[in-house]
Amino acid sequence: RCWRNMANSFTPPEAVGFVGLGNMGAPMARRLAAAGYRLVIADADAVAVARFADGTPCRHEPDLAVLGGACRIVITMLPDGHIVRDVVLGANGIAAGLQRDAVIIDMSSSAPVGTRDLGAALAGRGVHLMDAPVSGGVAKARDGTLAVMAGGEASVVERCRALLEVFGRVFPTGGPGTGHAMKALNNYLSAAHLATAAEGVIAGTRFGIAPETMIEILNSSSGRSYSTEYKYPKFILPGTFNAGFALGLMAKDVRLALELARANGAPHVLLQAVSDTWTRAEQQLGPRADHTEVVKYLESLAGGTAND
Ligand code: NAD
Repeated sequence: RCWRNMANSFTPPEAVGFVGLGNMGAPMARRLAAAGYRLVIADADAVAVARFADGTPCRHEPDLAVLGGACRIVITMLPDGHIVRDVVLGANGIAAGLQRDAVIIDMSSSAPVGTRDLGAALAGRGVHLMDAPVSGGVAKARDGTLAVMAGGEASVVERCRALLEVFGRVFPTGGPGTGHAMKALNNYLSAAHLATAAEGVIAGTRFGIAPETMIEILNSSSGRSYSTEYKYPKFILPGTFNAGFALGLMAKDVRLALELARANGAPHVLLQAVSDTWTRAEQQLGPRADHTEVVKYLESLAGGTAND
């Protein structure tokens, strides 16, 4: 069995389909090319394709059914699960070209329930779906040090493990959809940490403590988080707000976590408040603002709450 799995696994120079070459997809796909995989790429945005193809060996194949037919494995790194479903099952989508026993890895942060439905639809065609969303942002995508949350049948996860390790550390999470569930819950915590740090820093600043001083003290104290240790010094205090993760995508993830908690009868008092806050920030600043700009939204509340 071991031998069969090895023979079945995806190692260079395997052809890999890669759909979605945005902030995360582009650096991730570049790592695959550097590792010796042969890339067959597509993206709805011609600029993203041109930027990627400049300097990275790849074949551009805009016809998704043809792309599917050229690969035993296809990765999607798209904004959300609705788009993934469309790209996979839509007219002339990836699934139209895939052979039996092929694998699709959805590395986007998609809704876990939609992932289970999509997996069931593909199983009827003999195609396997696994979910492998990532955490770590653009810098870790470049370095290959992402956390990869791998949901799916154990045999499929094992088949994909060597390939996924190109992106970072692989954590199997259980059956189909569990990787996407884990990712949504991680981003709930990440969104909560950033918003609570911002409220704390705004209050302290208005009392007269310099924000730089606050961040330095927090980072030597128990209130620290990835937001205070990395995002504040790198993107917020210098005012660059260029983390490369859109506010609309973060708001989507927190809504997914809220749906998950509700559907499973889990408490969600804070999750509801965090989700409302990010959804309002998205309405005020637009979905394409950087997620670190949530600080500007909170500053604009000027002592009130969004409900006042
Ligand atoms: P992005 O918006 O930068 O990239 C998405 C890409 O998908 C774009 O190039 C877009 O043109 C393409 N696309 C959209 N619709 C398409 C379609 N129908 N067909 C083909 N291509 C299409 O987003 P991103 O920041 O790279 O994020 C991708 C996913 O990863 C999201 O689910 C996000 O939540 C998640 N994520 C992002 C980060 C981050 O730091 N940016 C970190 C972890 C996870």
